[in-house]
Amino acid sequence: MNTHTPAILPNEPSNETLQEWDRVHQLHPWASMDDWQGYDNMLVDCAEGIYLWDGDGKRFIDGPGGMWCVQIGYGRGEMADAIAAQVRKLAYTSPFTNTTQPSAVLARKLAEMAPGDLNNVFFTTGGSTAVDTALRTMHFMNNRLGRPEKKIVISREKAYHGSTYLAHSVTGKEREKSRFDIEKRLVRFLPDVNPYNRPEGMSVEAWCDEKVADLEKIIAEVGADRIGAFIAEPILSSGGVIVPPPGYHKRTFDICKAHDILYISDEVVTGFGRLGHWFASEDVFGIQPDMITTAKGLTSGYLPLGACIIADHVLERCASPDDPTLFSNGYTYSAHPVSCVAALTNIEIFEREGILQHVREVTPVFQGRLRALKDRFPLVGDARGMGLLGCVDCKAPNFAAEKRLGQMIDDACEEKGLLVRPFANMAVFSPPLIITAKQIDQMFDILESALEKVSAQVA
Ligand code: PLP
Repeated sequence: MNTHTPAILPNEPSNETLQEWDRVHQLHPWASMDDWQGYDNMLVDCAEGIYLWDGDGKRFIDGPGGMWCVQIGYGRGEMADAIAAQVRKLAYTSPFTNTTQPSAVLARKLAEMAPGDLNNVFFTTGGSTAVDTALRTMHFMNNRLGRPEKKIVISREKAYHGSTYLAHSVTGKEREKSRFDIEKRLVRFLPDVNPYNRPEGMSVEAWCDEKVADLEKIIAEVGADRIGAFIAEPILSSGGVIVPPPGYHKRTFDICKAHDILYISDEVVTGFGRLGHWFASEDVFGIQPDMITTAKGLTSGYLPLGACIIADHVLERCASPDDPTLFSNGYTYSAHPVSCVAALTNIEIFEREGILQHVREVTPVFQGRLRALKDRFPLVGDARGMGLLGCVDCKAPNFAAEKRLGQMIDDACEEKGLLVRPFANMAVFSPPLIITAKQIDQMFDILESALEKVSAQVA
């Protein structure tokens, strides 16, 4: 049990000192390079359930659920015990030459959970390496099949697939502002699929037709013989919780199948209960991808782990009995036994507590409160989401003010004890999946008072 009172021992650095060391020495992901030593990141001290406490002992509802990952909530003693027991028993062994009980059991479990013939699990260190593995598998397969030119990846504007060279290359979000090199020759991006951005007067059905036509057009332009894969998040999460129009996934999937283009479903966010199912691809969107990438909720954020789950029919095409070739992809911490135990214990908790069912039950409360914001606040241009994923997309009279709206909402929410994930003019939510209907109401009550404040500020 956490005490929630920050205990500073005599020789421990003060909160101010810690933040100073952080500012001067720690470079955070996606930091602004104009001001990387000038920003105070929140010092988080401890957490339990859906709450976390800062260094001064102030409590917050964790609206983003860490980074879309803390599905079972914080402070689970059972997770701590299972992790500690595995550390004592076997902290590490090489995945290149050995296997372990936790990794073998977890691989079997994931194969059971995944749709169709997705029976083969390659463990990685997180989401980016899972995406890398999926794309490298496509490279390997097409080289093996003697069609080395079939490598181009089709991705989408606003997609986020990770921060390795390859995963970043297929990331659409903020691409135009990146000073990192990316592999431009191997990627094509489809335009925005967000129904909110469709031209005035256009129906959602017509928008879906247009988005499907975008894919057909690019295949016609580039040539299916040069396109290896289509990579898609079922919901573009970091890009602003963009839910493509109904029917989009099935139609794009069918087009990929018709052209022998591998369909990679990036379920790093949508997997593990976020939409009330282990995976959303089949159960929510009716498709059986060729590969699924997962991470985050796989361990509920207790330890790093990712996986690329590959269909039998893909691996069969990678095999070459007459000319055996190594699949030279892998990480020192692939299938880490302690991370695999964390994932198995996480899954046990999901099953015992009926968390998937719980998500389906509280989703109407979450989505109902979310959508009501649009009617109540002229500031809110769109309030969209699915399952326990939501985004408030705001508009202001001028662009400069609009870009700051997410941060302004975050600041106003923080004052009242709620964390949100700000991004430009948006505030995004993906709370721990154990959140109750009452806590959802508390979260939206705070958000509404924050929106009142920000509406007055920008009026
Ligand atoms: N894919 C998606 C859809 C993601 O949202 C993320 C991270 O947010 C990643 C991949 C990368 O995962 P990681 O940060 O674990 O490398």
